[in-house]
Amino acid sequence: VTETHDIVVIGAGGAGLSAAIEAKAAGADVIVLEKMPMAGGNTLISGAEYAAPNNWLQKEEGIEDSIDLHIEDTLKGGDNKANEELVRVLAENALAGAEWLRDEVGIVWEDELMFFGGHSVKRSLVPAGASGREIISKQLAKAEEMNIPVLLNTKATALITDENGKVIGVEAEGENKNYTFNTNKAVIIASGGFGSNVEMRVKYNPDIDETILSTNSTGSTGDGIVMAEKIGASLVGMEYIQTYPICDPLTGTLLYYDDARLYGHTIIVNKEGKRFVEELGRRDVMSMAIKAQTGHVCYELLDQKGFEASKLQENHGPELDYLYKNDLLVKADTIKEAADFFGIDAVELQKTVDKYNGYIADGKDPEFNKRSLPSTVEVGPFYILKATPAVHHTMGGIKINTNAQVLDTEGNVIEGLYAAGEVTGGIQGANRLGSNALADITVFGRIAGQNAAK
Ligand code: ADP
Repeated sequence: VTETHDIVVIGAGGAGLSAAIEAKAAGADVIVLEKMPMAGGNTLISGAEYAAPNNWLQKEEGIEDSIDLHIEDTLKGGDNKANEELVRVLAENALAGAEWLRDEVGIVWEDELMFFGGHSVKRSLVPAGASGREIISKQLAKAEEMNIPVLLNTKATALITDENGKVIGVEAEGENKNYTFNTNKAVIIASGGFGSNVEMRVKYNPDIDETILSTNSTGSTGDGIVMAEKIGASLVGMEYIQTYPICDPLTGTLLYYDDARLYGHTIIVNKEGKRFVEELGRRDVMSMAIKAQTGHVCYELLDQKGFEASKLQENHGPELDYLYKNDLLVKADTIKEAADFFGIDAVELQKTVDKYNGYIADGKDPEFNKRSLPSTVEVGPFYILKATPAVHHTMGGIKINTNAQVLDTEGNVIEGLYAAGEVTGGIQGANRLGSNALADITVFGRIAGQNAAK
């Protein structure tokens, strides 16, 4: 089947849907291709918190923030590997993007901010239900209202170029038929990252091998990056892959049980019953340390008072049920009994716990310098969780300019081609701060859509 449209958007996650809505609002005829049976990608399964400096809730709470401070935080959080020009665009347009989602797309933001690591102030908006479901369901409803077709089960396979290298269309595979989409104006690549593509991960960063699972949607296989590179696009930061240390060893799903660690209450040990890393260390450092242990897993020990202080039962009851049922979490009267459940060396573990409790009394941890030591581990019953690191976000990708135009390896614009969202690189540097992704995909998705429609 051959069809002609002004604009084809590849990928129906948050970036692609933002781009499509803006392009259509600017008068273009737009179609969105989505390879999975449903829209949403990583955006759908994320918490979808959104960093927006100078937002309305900050004003109500008297929190002083600035665009420059957001830029500084983002650059520093990314180990100063990000492109400052792109980060400036992100910070300058983040609030407008959140207001656009609210006023034009109908997204409801909760009336409390969240404070993410690496941000100097509390600046992150939370969508209703603290889930990307709110973003994607409202964007899909808006797309439907605007008559933007979203073709599911339709995978883009190649970009079509003319003799001058300008992009003039997309080849795609549908369920029962193949398509050639010709474009009058542009193609927008918004196909997300490559966290679920082990081969591609290892190609760019051999540490992130098959022993590391993935929190990502299975559609995050880097298709857009490969298609763009094939026609000469430049890639940037491909080796920067973010892992999350505490995930489900069966599925790779991020575990909210980890709240207990973030509050400072857990001791992390290996199968030998020994601590091996600071429990509040950087995500990447902890992930690689866990990967190096027996079975590529760690065990988090928590006592009853830490369990209560972390509000695990109240906030994450269904997850606890799942963990017990799948033998990933045990609750026992003694440390020995809990250790035996997982075959952890119970004698060593008891020694580790005694030493740790001594550090709490001294107020310092000479072994690993744990930065917060709020409570001992001594009041039964005891809990042990088994966890493993998983890929969470791929920072690298297609190189773009501030107009979201794709650049070739010489730094020239590839005509007719835009990219936005996790598929692009250079905005999050070597490490993405929590809640910067939603701002990124919304800001650059909108820019791509507006410019492509011109
Ligand atoms: P972002 O956060 O950048 O919007 P997401 O992961 O949320 O990224 O969305 C990307 C979407 O693109 C996913 O729904 C994914 O299934 C889809 N996708 C990935 N590769 C292709 C492809 N080759 N053709 C069509 N859709 C694709």
